[in-house]
This record gives sequence, C-alpha cells and structure tokens, in this order.
Amino acid sequence: MENHDLRTRDVVVIGAGLTGLTTAFYARKRGRDVEIVEQADRIGGQIRTHRVGDFIFESGPNTGVVSCPEVAELFNDLCPHCELEPARASSKRRLIWKDGRFHPLPSGIGSALTTPLFTWNDKLRILGEPWRRKGTDSDES
Ligand SMILES: Cc1cc2nc3c(=O)[nH]c(=O)nc-3n(C[C@H](O)[C@H](O)[C@H](O)COP(=O)(O)OP(=O)(O)OC[C@H]3O[C@@H](n4cnc5c(N)ncnc54)[C@H](O)[C@@H]3O)c2cc1C
Repeated sequence: MENHDLRTRDVVVIGAGLTGLTTAFYARKRGRDVEIVEQADRIGGQIRTHRVGDFIFESGPNTGVVSCPEVAELFNDLCPHCELEPARASSKRRLIWKDGRFHPLPSGIGSALTTPLFTWNDKLRILGEPWRRKGTDSDES
C-alpha cells in the first residue's frame, strides 16, 4: 500500500494546477520525494479541456508562448508523455461573444480602436501605451 503520510515527504505541493504540477515535476526530477495535495476531484486547476463530439475546446487558458525558453524546456522534458499540438492556421481568426453576437478579437491598433469589445477608457489607455514606462519585472506580460 502506498504511503500518504505527508510528514515523510521531502516536498508537499498544495494544488495540482499548472504551477503545482510543474513544481512537483521538477522537484521529482531532482530526486525529491514529492506529494501533491489537491482539493478538487480533478487535476489541472484553471486548465480544463472539453471534448464534445469531434471538437476539443478549452474553457481556461488556450494560448501559450512557446518562444519562452522555460516553456520550450518544459515541453522537451515532458516528451514523449506530452506532445505540443499547435493550433491550426484557420484558428488565427478568434471571436469573442458579446452582446448576443461574435466580434473578431482585435489584432492591431486599427481594430483595437474600432472594436466594441473595449471601453473608451481602454482605448485611450491603449493609445497611451508608447508613452508608458516599462516595468522593471522581466517576467511582466
Ligand atoms: C478563462 C481563463 C483563460 C486564461 N487564458 C490564459 C491563456 O490563454 N494563456 C495563459 O498563459 N494563461 C491564461 N490564463 C491564466 C492561467 O490559466 C493561470 O495562470 C494558470 O492556469 C494558473 O495555474 P496555477 O497552478 O497557478 O493555479 P490554478 O490553475 O488555479 O491551480 C490551483 C490549484 O490549487 C488547488 N487548491 C487551491 N487551494 C487548495 C488547498 N487549500 N488545498 C488543496 N488544493 C488547493 C485548486 O483546486 C487548483 O486545482 C487563463 C485563466 C483563465 C481563468
């Protein structure tokens, strides 16, 4: 029978979302004895994939930046258990449902200013972006 006494573990991770699972994965890779504690009846946290008929869709995060070295490294390390599945070119056109209809997701300054998805306040802030000072956190989005 497996031992679930947390006091005997090197590392106990609370939460099996992306952060907890990644932390546990790397701790285990470094030879630590790890246990993950999750309150929900499923793992993944905000990440949730639905399969309905031939369709697969996400109700949480759906976009990742693979050019980040850490993300690329994680996918390499998870190989062959996890495979990168790039979105089809046709999914470049993204739509957001608002006020009873779909609106294309703005892809540039022109569409950002004309879209009904953003408030006038948002639009003014977008226009002010070039004059706003950069933060000092290199990890800032
Ligand atoms: C709708 C939506 C869209 C998003 N889109 C994107 C996107 O496109 N790209 C992107 O990069 N990011 C996106 N994000 C953000 C991204 O989903 C989160 O940053 C990331 O999933 C957070 O992971 P996490 O492990 O830190 O937290 P979570 O996923 O919230 O996981 C925390 C886990 O801890 C568990 N937990 C909490 N408290 C306890 C406790 N006391 N005991 C045991 N378990 C506990 C929870 O049940 C949960 O499973 C999106 C988020 C949402 C909600």
